[in-house]
Amino acid sequence: MDCKEILRRYYGYSSFRPGQWEIISNALDGRDTLVLMPTGGGKSLCFQIPALAKPGCALVVSPLIALMNDQVAALRANGIPAAAVHSNQDERVNDECLYLASKGEMKLIYISPERLMADFDNICARLPISLVAIDEAHCISQWGHDFRPVYTSLKAIKEKLPDVPVMALTATADRLTRDDIARALGLRDPFAWIGSFDRPNISLRVMSDPGKKQRLRIIASLADKYHLDSGIVYCLSRKKTEEMHAALLEMGIKSVCYHAGMSPADRAASQKAFVNGDVRVVCATIAFGMGIDKSNIRWVVHNNLPGNIESYYQEIGRAGRDGMPAEALMFYNFADVILRRNFVENSGQQEINGEKLDFMQRYAEASVCRRRILLSYFSEETVHDCGNCDNCRNPRKKIDGTILAQKALSAVIRVNAGEAMNTIIDILRASNRADIIRKGYHQIKTYGAGRDLGSLEWHNYMLQMVQLGLFEVAYDDNFHLRPTPLGMKVVRGEQRVEFAAFNPVEVFTRRKPSKKAATPERKLSPEERLMEILKKTRKEIADGEGIADYMVFADTSLADMVKKRPTDIDAFREINGAGVLKTVKYGKQFISAIRKFETGKAGLPAGTSQKESLMLFEAGMDPETVAGIKGISVGTVYGHLEQWAIQGKDIDFRRLVSIEELDNVCAVFAKDPDHAYDILKERYGLPPHVIRMARTEANLNS
Ligand code: ADP
Ligand code: ZN
Repeated sequence: MDCKEILRRYYGYSSFRPGQWEIISNALDGRDTLVLMPTGGGKSLCFQIPALAKPGCALVVSPLIALMNDQVAALRANGIPAAAVHSNQDERVNDECLYLASKGEMKLIYISPERLMADFDNICARLPISLVAIDEAHCISQWGHDFRPVYTSLKAIKEKLPDVPVMALTATADRLTRDDIARALGLRDPFAWIGSFDRPNISLRVMSDPGKKQRLRIIASLADKYHLDSGIVYCLSRKKTEEMHAALLEMGIKSVCYHAGMSPADRAASQKAFVNGDVRVVCATIAFGMGIDKSNIRWVVHNNLPGNIESYYQEIGRAGRDGMPAEALMFYNFADVILRRNFVENSGQQEINGEKLDFMQRYAEASVCRRRILLSYFSEETVHDCGNCDNCRNPRKKIDGTILAQKALSAVIRVNAGEAMNTIIDILRASNRADIIRKGYHQIKTYGAGRDLGSLEWHNYMLQMVQLGLFEVAYDDNFHLRPTPLGMKVVRGEQRVEFAAFNPVEVFTRRKPSKKAATPERKLSPEERLMEILKKTRKEIADGEGIADYMVFADTSLADMVKKRPTDIDAFREINGAGVLKTVKYGKQFISAIRKFETGKAGLPAGTSQKESLMLFEAGMDPETVAGIKGISVGTVYGHLEQWAIQGKDIDFRRLVSIEELDNVCAVFAKDPDHAYDILKERYGLPPHVIRMARTEANLNS
């Protein structure tokens, strides 16, 4: 079968994504490959399709058991024989999987590096290995943040199996790590594909922290907006995670917690509830997300400033893996910078971590296209602004900031550079906080000079002043602000400055939630209503099968259904992501729901079952398998195929009746037509459906 056909039949996709075909064809030519693509770029197909196209079985080395199990489940849902082998599973099950693979009944075996290395010679001897894929290949690099010592032993693969193509895959964007991978695995002249790390479907937004109440309302409004979809709230600590969870609950939004302080069982339960779509929001520390394949996460909130761009990018990258629009929102305040600085000071690698934090801060404070900042961090050139970040959508006007800067600087000077940003803002805004009065700050000339601006607004401008180099922050001295020579020039009126105008935060209000789940108050369009219906249909199927909703169909497939409105099985087959198996297993429920939506009447067109049988048979399945999938008898499947043959479809009879059976049927009918069925059954053990099929073939040929 050619690769395009595999793509269509098993996965229901009509074309390859950028890079996939180049990678696949090189692997099929036997060449080693290095695949660098962002999360959601479509790496899995790059090794799965060669695995299906080549004889034998592909080994996929993967470091995370949860991820292995997920991928195996997704493959099986598409009718591809695959299994996982790892230490968390009974050895007998592992052996059974390897046995099936050795008999050629598995196309892919996912295996942990520990298990592979422990049993390497035996596995090489037993399995007809077609390809070795090494997922999360950056784990081999000591430079990377996920270094796994066991990965270094994987270089034995190339030594032992020099002629088997090896494919190393990673979503890491860090150059040092990339260069390390090919060398450490001993790849021979690999074909390298370096995909763009841009994730244009994720909208980017950073909001000056509007205070706890507003922040919660904004998060709640996201949860409302996506009440049938999932989102993550990243919090800084275990305690903050629990607090967020409680606060959301008070607003009527159910969530689960996920942090390192929970027992493994509780964590696994949280993860499962979230992945399966039983609970739509997870409040998590950064520990959450590794090993999550869920493709339909629609929003990610960072309640605090992350420590570096790599983590931030990885975390927002968990949203929108299916390529559909998703939102990333970060709340930013200077207190977080201070906190992060302290982490850096105690990290043992002050210099590099300090630089990383600087970059993160620059991103958070930027008034230019944020995506360009991110991509430039990953050494990708960009020519255009993205149009999908807050700064692009809502460009900030420039204002003359000279007078504001002079007020702030003079306050800094009058407290002898002995205070941090918040106190300076309080002085400018005439706070009568006890320590301000005690220190006599209410008597200095600039006390109250900035009353006309809100503290959020001052905060924003002060940060811009730091960025422009008007003051320095003494990170080693309680974060006191100190004027720079440039700042002094501004004070003396020798230098003017411009600020990006502060965009006020929209004020969010939220009615008390009703007892039922939160629902949006806005009226839905027909498309949105149908989408909701399809999501509910999907959830029912997923619950029935005990799998995650996105494994039934990704959101992209549902969106395609909303667009194409298939009302019969042939039309359903054209839906993006509807391979033959999913079409037959799940198509009917969706078709029926769409018919009900369109005409008020559920149900299916006549002949659906016949079409399904033909579809599966033409996809190469034998009648027993078809019967098993559809829950009908083999005789019925034969009956369906016979009808198709009579109607002129080109049916491959040899897969149904052997030449010998055909000869016997013809001979017996020629001699004794009245008793032919009995004779054929008794003497040759032929069931009636085979006899009928042979007769049909003979008739059609005569
Ligand atoms: P990665 O492993 O790079 O994070 P995946 O392999 O999980 O990404 O792919 C992300 C999503 O994109 C999956 O839902 C996958 O089915 C889908 N996908 C991959 N290739 C294609 C394609 N050629 N056409 C449509 N969808 C695709
Ligand atoms: Zn932009």
